[in-house]
Amino acid sequence: MVNRTFRYEQFTIAQDPSAWPEYSAMCVSGEDVECGVESGGEGNPEAVEEWMRQHTQGTGHRRYRRNISDYAVWELAALDIRLPDKESQ
Ligand SMILES: [Zn+2]
Repeated sequence: MVNRTFRYEQFTIAQDPSAWPEYSAMCVSGEDVECGVESGGEGNPEAVEEWMRQHTQGTGHRRYRRNISDYAVWELAALDIRLPDKESQ
């Protein structure tokens, strides 16, 4: 038997406002062995792009794997539940 815990409540997934997203990139240029140099975590994508620009400028490497990490929480949405109208069924 299925136990429907959230029967009369609506939840949504939201980005956790108490933790900023983190952006990073790793250079994966190279055929047999990838370069593997990593940018480290940054608080905005522009900082990672600038790191990539400088790495490419210094090495000629042009292929990267980018990561974005954030935290998510379930939040209880406003309780705007209407029970079914018996006459309309
Ligand atoms: Zn590289």
